[in-house]
Amino acid sequence: MRILLVEDETRMAQALCEILRLEKYEVDHCANGPDGLAAIESNIYDIVILDVMLPGINGYKIAKRVRSQGIATPILMLTARSELDDKVTGLDCGADDYLTKPFMTRELLARLRALGRRTLGTTDCTLSFGDIALDTSTLMLSCITNGQSIRLSEKEYRILEYLIANGSRVLTREQLAVKIWGFESEAEYNNVEVYMSFTRKKLAFVEAKTEIKAVRGIGYELRYDDV
Ligand code: CA
Repeated sequence: MRILLVEDETRMAQALCEILRLEKYEVDHCANGPDGLAAIESNIYDIVILDVMLPGINGYKIAKRVRSQGIATPILMLTARSELDDKVTGLDCGADDYLTKPFMTRELLARLRALGRRTLGTTDCTLSFGDIALDTSTLMLSCITNGQSIRLSEKEYRILEYLIANGSRVLTREQLAVKIWGFESEAEYNNVEVYMSFTRKKLAFVEAKTEIKAVRGIGYELRYDDV
């Protein structure tokens, strides 16, 4: 699960990054509004933790802007103020949840878990697309029509999970590289291609009709033609 933290207070941001990494989340941090907005627009995050008072553009405006672009990433708003008005403004802008500073770590983690479940779009642990199903806890890929299954490696799993979450939308190599390997990694786009071919072999192994199609010059998409 990849989280973007947009928070300008250095100590707060450092503490949150540390806590989240301990909880095995992957975390990227932006310290101002414009950087935060650009990072959310990359559309590679599972959850955004968004401070309201930020240099450049405030959290409300950021939320409104990304929602108007059709980006549905769950947003947890943070604010130092506790007025009801703020809460209403935040939710009006498209935030999914709201936390008032100071807050307890365990409350933050509980909210993140709830938003994470929403990201998966399901409370049980199966993702599906076309004729394939993906078990999110065992990393088993199966073909619904013939019952064949195979275990995926972590990277293969994350590739398919990301593709499924985006339905038939085309994902660029850049989005995939950043989502699976992270901004800080040295992942070359070659990596994406190598793992795509591994993942395709697994799809072929279970004889699924769902395919990962390369879209020339752009990236990849999932396709299912039931013919
Ligand atoms: Ca702030």
